[in-house]
Amino acid sequence: MSKKIKIIPLGGLEEVGKNCIAIEYSKDIIVIDLGVGFPSFELPGVKWLLPSIDYLQKNKKKIKALLITHGHLDHIGGVPYLWKKIGKPPVYATELTIAMLRDRLQEKKIYGVKFFQISPKQKFRLGANFTITPFHVVHNIPESVGFVIKTPIGKLVHTGDWKFDKDPADQPPVDKKFLKKIGDSNVLALLSDSTNAEVPGKTLPEKEVGNTIDSIVSQAKGRVIFTSFSSLISRIHQVFDICKKHKRKVAIAGFSIIQTVELVKKLNYFDIPKGLLINLKDIHNYSDQDILIIASGTQGEPNSTMTRIAKQEHEKISVKPNDTIVFSSSAIPGNELLIQKVMDCLIDQGADIIYKPVLGAGVHSSGHACREELREMIDLVRPKFFIPIEGGNRMLAEHIKIAQSQGIDKKRCFLLNNGETIQMSQNKVTLLKKKNLTPLIVSGGKVKTLKRNIIKERLEIARSGVCIINQKSSQKIEILFLGLFVEDAIIKQAAKKAKKLLKSHGKNKKGRREIKKRFGDYLLSKIGKKPIILVF
Ligand SMILES: [Zn+2]
Repeated sequence: MSKKIKIIPLGGLEEVGKNCIAIEYSKDIIVIDLGVGFPSFELPGVKWLLPSIDYLQKNKKKIKALLITHGHLDHIGGVPYLWKKIGKPPVYATELTIAMLRDRLQEKKIYGVKFFQISPKQKFRLGANFTITPFHVVHNIPESVGFVIKTPIGKLVHTGDWKFDKDPADQPPVDKKFLKKIGDSNVLALLSDSTNAEVPGKTLPEKEVGNTIDSIVSQAKGRVIFTSFSSLISRIHQVFDICKKHKRKVAIAGFSIIQTVELVKKLNYFDIPKGLLINLKDIHNYSDQDILIIASGTQGEPNSTMTRIAKQEHEKISVKPNDTIVFSSSAIPGNELLIQKVMDCLIDQGADIIYKPVLGAGVHSSGHACREELREMIDLVRPKFFIPIEGGNRMLAEHIKIAQSQGIDKKRCFLLNNGETIQMSQNKVTLLKKKNLTPLIVSGGKVKTLKRNIIKERLEIARSGVCIINQKSSQKIEILFLGLFVEDAIIKQAAKKAKKLLKSHGKNKKGRREIKKRFGDYLLSKIGKKPIILVF
């Protein structure tokens, strides 16, 4: 029997999102997280990115379990799409994570998942070779865990998303003594969250964020409209408590926040006193100083509640001059301009906007450890080998520098890409040949293989526009331009030109090719663009 562990990253390295790592020993594989990634503007028409599962599909029989660290979409979002494809493994997660995952599965009508509810420090065995001990970590969603994975040749520690918040809002701090004890028992490898490896210092304690929001709410002269990530249950909990204290009623606007509040009520996650939560349609029955609205849409998403309020398209909420609008969030990279536009519109309508860069950044705290915290984690766990995970290459490289500064030799740190497998014995690490990965996406509600040529076509359509030559009869030619600025006079001329070309070249394969070429050159001279041309 080979006495080696394989660590196989399938998503979440060289990028932020679609987290998924497989760990293999002999005939057993465990998979940690199966998330989605958020596509950039370079991938139009793509809803989600998914981890590549070629290796898991080939080794379905070995998979003993899917372990989930927490309920964020970049950790659970891939399950409804990929769980069946990887052999329907049992899923191990905490109560809240299971509830959130159940909602996602129900939405996609996926049934039959066998769940095992886990709790911090309650160990369990998987297959013949793994003993797992989950441990509580603070993150901006409750019930997040990391895993200590005991194998026959040593322990691995996978942190999941985490931070050391000395004063978290509705959860205990991380048990550092437990981590130190694990460190004392010789850890073979640490796999740790790198998201904020470039951010100096420590994360702002959630209770301080709560205090800032409290003072904003207490001083607000009119309504408060509060927006945050819908999964940030602890922040939403704080807002309910603050409203209770200041005798403001809470109304909810937006599907994702409504879903979160429903979940909180279902699990009895925190107490919402009777009468505190009111229906959005009833806000006009109260004076403005007695109302706080929690709204979804922190990222300027086109159809979100905040964007509709900003565009004056929301059926129940329009901005009033005395409104205080709090963005308790940060921009997901790429969304900055959209958010700025929403804020500009809100200010234009007279609202007072409070967001991260003002008031000393007090209204939001990241869920991911900053450099000082990352340093401390490495010191507590003192691993032999170090593998930064969850981050783009720049973040991973910075995290390795932090590990080196804490005395871990560079030769024992590994900056991996997705598909690069590490094989580890007690004393030696070998980097195996990079596995072939099929890039997967969700488009049109289905899992598809990402094909670069199709994306290229989509981008080409966006950049150059489309021109349709529609021959209705030998005399009647209709020209349609999509996504192009063309004057009526030129459309008329173009129709004449097309008619001539059709007459001389015909519509067989060769003729169409010739028409497209000549008509393309013609349009380039007339409108300065060579669109995609279709001939019917
Ligand atoms: Zn997370």
